[in-house]
Amino acid sequence: MDTQWKFSREYNPTTRTIKITEDIFIGGDTNNTLMIAGPCSIESEKQIELVAKMLVKNNIKVLRAGAFKPRTSPYSFFGLGVEGLKLLRKIGDKYNLKIITEVRDSTQVEDVIAYADIIQIGAKAMWDYGILEAVSKTDKPVMIKRAFGARVQEVAQIAEFIINGGNENVLICERGIRTFETGTRFTLDLCGVAWLKEHTNIPIILDPSHAMGYSYGVADLTRACTAMGVDGLIIETHPLPEVAKSDASQQLNFEQFENMYNSLYPITKAINRNLV
Ligand code: PEP
Ligand code: MN
Repeated sequence: MDTQWKFSREYNPTTRTIKITEDIFIGGDTNNTLMIAGPCSIESEKQIELVAKMLVKNNIKVLRAGAFKPRTSPYSFFGLGVEGLKLLRKIGDKYNLKIITEVRDSTQVEDVIAYADIIQIGAKAMWDYGILEAVSKTDKPVMIKRAFGARVQEVAQIAEFIINGGNENVLICERGIRTFETGTRFTLDLCGVAWLKEHTNIPIILDPSHAMGYSYGVADLTRACTAMGVDGLIIETHPLPEVAKSDASQQLNFEQFENMYNSLYPITKAINRNLV
């Protein structure tokens, strides 16, 4: 690969180090695997507070929830918008949790940058150059979700726009690609993850929830991803998944989430990593 690419191992062989909290870093020589968890969407203060309490109980430091949801039907729930961002900030501050939330298009990017600790670029927004330009100008970490029709090289090149624009703190998230298979929502591309690990110095986050689309597969996939020695995992969990306003079928209830989470410790121990 051409050495001009700052994402490449030829340019810098060491995985870039990303600061998550005052004392938690991922990438570099940390051997850390970060757990990020929370509902697909923030729906109410009560809902997000229940999730925050569960995370604190399990010593998890990063809360996910979308306030701007990309949907495939105009009749679906599009999220609480800026109100949702404010609630996320309030709960993050109250429970000492870092907030990752998605930006759907460049019209909300400044608000998301202002309220979030980590900015998530939704898979359907990967090519929004307005977003890429805006997030290049902050130093907050940015997690780019690979579009379901993008090659691994393409998502790495999108990351390069942000790095080249001035923000070195990028993460790539594999969340499933579209294949001929219709039994599951998408196909989690673990070969692509191996490619990204081999060729890029960008920390990799795995999202089995969106790839699978059904809660029954999420725990097994999370264990498989953990065994690959990735830098982080992002899992959807909801107090009552059956009434969730988005992605109801794939969200874990708290019991399912905690059972899955506890099963990861022996895996990270076996491969000399720390679950943080
Ligand atoms: C999400 O994280 O809830 C989401 C909408 O994911 P994606 O952008 O990968 O579809
Ligand atoms: Mn979702």
